[in-house]
Amino acid sequence: MSFEPFPPMPDFPPGEVWLAGAGPGDPRLMTLLALHAVRTADDIVHDALIDTRVLALKRADAELISVGKRGGRASARQNDINGVLIERARMRRRVLRLKGGDPFVFGRGWDEVVALAEAGLRYRLIPGVTSGLAATALAGIPATTRDTNHAVVLAAGHRADDEQSSADWEALARLGQPIILYMPMTQLAGITAALMKGGLAADTPAALLQSATTENERVVDSSLGRLVDDARIHAIGSPAIVVIGAVAALRRQMLAGLVGWR
Ligand code: SAH
Repeated sequence: MSFEPFPPMPDFPPGEVWLAGAGPGDPRLMTLLALHAVRTADDIVHDALIDTRVLALKRADAELISVGKRGGRASARQNDINGVLIERARMRRRVLRLKGGDPFVFGRGWDEVVALAEAGLRYRLIPGVTSGLAATALAGIPATTRDTNHAVVLAAGHRADDEQSSADWEALARLGQPIILYMPMTQLAGITAALMKGGLAADTPAALLQSATTENERVVDSSLGRLVDDARIHAIGSPAIVVIGAVAALRRQMLAGLVGWR
């Protein structure tokens, strides 16, 4: 495939594994390299979160291998996934490991790269638009502005293996920088309480961003103190991003001329 006048796309040799981020959902937010990978791969090993519109771009004869959550211990699942990647690569397949957002933002990409390296395989890394930044921008919330912040915290509400996050929320609160929270729901009450204990005011602006770039997209304006109630009242479900900080309030100003993502 070519994207003239773009530079040529790399060859995808049999036996290689490409680890790519698919972005937040809408295929138009994939990188050109990720699209090239989807259209070229023999096997696409993907998570439950990968949008069907992205998978629909595969070659008709490419094989989809879903390794989404199926219960069992997360570490065992990760070993299984590593095993699939290694086995398929050794079968001389062009293996695409496709992850939501960016592979290295709470995506366990590192675990897989280590396994591939140990197996002596060759791999290519393709970054993606991480959902935390896509969801915020699309909702009209800037991650940084010159007036509000010079840093932004990307944090996980719980770990991919379902264990509680080890983040020091009170310390993060003291940074006074916006927090973009992935996997926010299961621990939301504890996290918001800890942030307030760390000094963030209950009326700190916040927003709940569900299923950005999909048909189920929803944006709910909130505040730190109201997040738990608002998530319940508005029945916010997974996947969702929570933004906490002054930038969340800028949305109202941005909305005036904002055209939706569709
Ligand atoms: N590697 C991914 C994150 C994986 S963790 C990335 O860079 O985006 C899974 C979490 O990502 C979900 O719990 C949710 O917090 C977030 N997420 C993924 N897709 C999303 C979307 N379309 N809208 C909102 N949040 C999303």
